[in-house]
Amino acid sequence: MNNEYSEFQEVTEQSEQLDFNRTKPCPHCQNPIPADAVSCYYCGRSLSPGKKWVVWAFAAIAGIFLVRFIIGLTGLLRR
Ligand SMILES: [Zn+2]
Repeated sequence: MNNEYSEFQEVTEQSEQLDFNRTKPCPHCQNPIPADAVSCYYCGRSLSPGKKWVVWAFAAIAGIFLVRFIIGLTGLLRR
């Protein structure tokens, strides 16, 4: 079990480029895609759901700044 994990690590570290000889099934549509692909070529869905929260966090922070900017503008106009 531990051995398998270390082998998997070696494989992922060595594959800098897209290697179509080493594929994995897409979790969404089950089509074969490169093992290090970030999105599926067939259904176009992202394969890194763990990074989705980063996008949402960035959107939330941007939204907060935008709201603060608008509040600041309206505050300046009222003065
Ligand atoms: Zn897919």
